[in-house]
Amino acid sequence: MPELPEVETVARSLRPRIVGRTITGLDLLDRTLLRTGGRRGLEALRGRRVLGVRRRGKMLLVELDGGRTLVFHLKMTGQILFAGEGTPRDKHVRLAVRFADGRDELRFRDVRRFGFLLCLAGPPESACGELAGLGPEPLAVGPAEFAAILKGRKGRIKSVLLDQRRLAGIGNIYADEMLFAAGIHPEKPASSIGPGAVERLHGSMRRILESAIAAGGSTIRDYRDADGQSGGFQSDHRVYGRTGKPCPVCGASVRMSRVGGRSSHFCPKCQPRPRGRKR
Ligand SMILES: [Zn+2]
Repeated sequence: MPELPEVETVARSLRPRIVGRTITGLDLLDRTLLRTGGRRGLEALRGRRVLGVRRRGKMLLVELDGGRTLVFHLKMTGQILFAGEGTPRDKHVRLAVRFADGRDELRFRDVRRFGFLLCLAGPPESACGELAGLGPEPLAVGPAEFAAILKGRKGRIKSVLLDQRRLAGIGNIYADEMLFAAGIHPEKPASSIGPGAVERLHGSMRRILESAIAAGGSTIRDYRDADGQSGGFQSDHRVYGRTGKPCPVCGASVRMSRVGGRSSHFCPKCQPRPRGRKR
C-alpha cells in the first residue's frame, strides 16, 4: 500500500499539473469509489479551480475554490495518472477529471478497488472522520512528543507505529525499516522501550521517511507517481520483503513473523526478541 513517502511523492508530482486549473467535467465510472458527497457533490465541482494539493497521512487532498475538497485514498493499488484526450480508458479507471485548458485528463485507476474518494463541502478536518481521527505527521513530531506517543502504550511497537491515530502515514514497509534501523524487535511492548532506543527510533523514523521521499517512494507492485515514474527506495529496503536473505549488518537470515495480523520483517540478531516472548 502506498504509505507516507509514496503519497507525498504523488502530491508533489500532481501539484504542478493541476494547481490553478479549472475542472470542467468528472466521470465517475465506478459508483463504489465515492464514499462521501454523492454524484451531486461531484457535479458541484464543475467550474471550480484547484487551489492546492496536499497530503495528510496516507490521504491525498485536492483543495478547490468554494471550500470544497476531493480526498483520495489510494489504498492497495490506487494510481493517479494523466492521459491524453481520446486515450482509451481501461477497465480499472474509476474516475476521470477534465480541465478547462489542455487535452489531458486526470484518471484514478485502481486494480484491486480498495481505494476511495471523498467529496467534501466543508473544511476537510471537520467534515471527514477519517481525517479528524489522524495522529500527527511523523515528520512534524519532535523527540519529546514521539516519546510521549509511545509512553504507557502496552501494545507492541509495530502495532503502535501502524496505528494511524498515533502517527499518520506509516505503514508496513517503513515501520519494519525504522525498527530494524533502531535495533528494536517489532513485538517489543512500546512502553518497555528505553529512552535511548526511543530516541534512536525517532531518528530512524525521520531519516528513513526523508530518504524514501527523496527517492520518490518504494515501488512494490504498481505504485507510480502522477508523472508515471516508479519509486527507487525499494532497493534500499534492508529487511522488508527480504525474508531468508542475509541481514545487511550481521549476515543472519532475515525473518518474518505476524504482528497484529501484519507480516513483520526483522533480523533476529540485530533486533533481539523481548524477554518472556516466545517465538
Ligand atoms: Zn542483523
